[in-house]
Amino acid sequence: MIQKSPVIRMCISCRKTYDRNNLLKVTNDQKLGIMINNGIGRSAYICKSKECYTNSKIKKKLQKALKTSLEADFFDIFKKEIANYY
Ligand SMILES: [Zn+2]
Repeated sequence: MIQKSPVIRMCISCRKTYDRNNLLKVTNDQKLGIMINNGIGRSAYICKSKECYTNSKIKKKLQKALKTSLEADFFDIFKKEIANYY
């Protein structure tokens, strides 16, 4: 039996690596803008640890990783999305 190897990605906050399925993906879609767990383009991953997604530096890290500036309301959406996600 051939086992499918998991896709490993790094959390931009704690820099630990996880299975893709255990991370929240934020993508800077070329057409649609910032998307969560969707879209095509430059992406950043954040793990499910509360310390990571509530980290005060996460906005800067995301902006750097996605090479874009994030609107203030992005984090309202982001937090709601995370609440739904868990
Ligand atoms: Zn993390």
